[in-house]
Amino acid sequence: MSMQQLLGSAAAREAIVLPYRHVDTHFIDGVWIASTTTARNDVTDPATALVWGSVAEGTTEDLEKAVVAARTAFDSGPWPRLAPSERAVVLLRVADQIEARSTELSLTNTLENGSPISETKGAAANAASIFRYFASLAPLLESEDVRPFPNGLGESLVRRDPVGVCGLIAPWNFPINLMVIKLAPALLAGCTVVMKPASPTPLSFRIIMDALAAAGVPDGVANLVTGSGRLGDALVKHPLVNKVAFTGSTPVGRKIASACGELLRPVTLELGGKSSALVLPDADLDAMGSNLIRSCMRNTGQTCYISTRILAPTQRYDEVVELVTSTISAAPQGDPLDPATVFGPTATASQYRTVLDYIESGRAEGARATTGGHKVQLGGGLDAGYFIAPTVFADVTPGMRISREEIFGPVVSILRYDGIDEGIALANNTEFGLGGLVFGADTDAAQAAAERMDTGSVGINFFASNHAAPFGGRNDSGLGTEYGPEGLAAYLSYKSIHRR
Ligand code: NDP
Repeated sequence: MSMQQLLGSAAAREAIVLPYRHVDTHFIDGVWIASTTTARNDVTDPATALVWGSVAEGTTEDLEKAVVAARTAFDSGPWPRLAPSERAVVLLRVADQIEARSTELSLTNTLENGSPISETKGAAANAASIFRYFASLAPLLESEDVRPFPNGLGESLVRRDPVGVCGLIAPWNFPINLMVIKLAPALLAGCTVVMKPASPTPLSFRIIMDALAAAGVPDGVANLVTGSGRLGDALVKHPLVNKVAFTGSTPVGRKIASACGELLRPVTLELGGKSSALVLPDADLDAMGSNLIRSCMRNTGQTCYISTRILAPTQRYDEVVELVTSTISAAPQGDPLDPATVFGPTATASQYRTVLDYIESGRAEGARATTGGHKVQLGGGLDAGYFIAPTVFADVTPGMRISREEIFGPVVSILRYDGIDEGIALANNTEFGLGGLVFGADTDAAQAAAERMDTGSVGINFFASNHAAPFGGRNDSGLGTEYGPEGLAAYLSYKSIHRR
């Protein structure tokens, strides 16, 4: 069936061949095993609001089996005892196996969370490149690190041991990438893992589990259980878990930080954001237009690091509003299975309501919607989908909720500033600190502005995350980093052996 025939119709969606739709198993100790319960969680297509799949609502018994499998594989299995370069060879095979499953990964992901297919078609290649990148770091783990005592007393051998059993928890917006960015370094380090995907997106990662098994990752090394946040909480607190890595909202991140604090358990938290795009007076607005959606509204605004607050200098404010409005209103919204679609639905019914509430609050507080600002009913089977017209708010002031809080939907706000100091102060006037952008023609001035922004990552005239560079949030955006050698270090436990 061609992609064109799949569009809109629910019956055609039913006909899409996918490896997983209704399932009742968890991946534990190298096999899919039946859940200990008959309770199920539905998987809904946000473009149609129709249920098309379901998974087991895992129990603490299921979780126990998974954690024990990971513990046993860590304590007595081969994986932590292989040389890092041997593990890297397996990681490279995993990358190939993921790429071989690209189409089913992309379709499953799009049907789970409504991410446009133009976005999800790159998910497998991106996941594969993360595995390949971390495989390339094996020599870092193999090089012998011997450090003389400064007083000449002897020397210390610094060992980088795997931290142990890791609990990995991901959100629904990029269900593949945001788990893989934890899994790949954990595996290279020699750890074993138990993973819990988000409830709206529990199916796509099963395909990655099949890739891991096909690549020869030993039994018990990587385990997957599906279930609600309650199961995530039990995973975080499980006595046999040594480390937690979480991507998700700031409120849940705080709960996890608190539990890990009590347990003195290392934790990496990648949380929410409210990042700013600072438009300098000399910015090339045509160039900005071509990067705008990717940098400020990627994935229908459901991306943690995008710059949803655009800060425009007073002298160019009207021009910026016009550019942002015309660029966003011209981008096609529609069936996420259509390769031409730029804006899909919001991912869940609850996110749909949250975003509409924010739009109401923006209006109530005096902001002006220059495009969008309403629900959209698309025809042809998509009438009930969670579509919201991409929305641009002008005349936004710093105190408004839409300017301060993470919306996580297709809404951007444009604020005005006078002078670079006020622009920087506005960019830093947030509790978060995850992404950010500077648009400017003079790249030295743009870099100087970027250096003054209190954030974990900032782009000059574009934004993309680089697998080789640390990515993490400051303030309410998280603790620790992922990507790069720093992301690998989060899965290591250092030990110094002192010798004469
Ligand atoms: P949530 O925080 O609601 O959930 C994230 C994950 O945590 C889900 O798997 C969820 O399970 C699970 N969970 C929920 N409660 C608990 C708990 N008490 N203990 C352990 N796990 C729990 O976030 P969303 O899924 O709604 O994702 C959106 C958020 O993620 C946004 O705020 C966004 O900014 C952030 N994010 C951050 C990124 C970053 O790198 N900084 C990247 C992408 C998103 P369940 O789904 O079953 O409730």
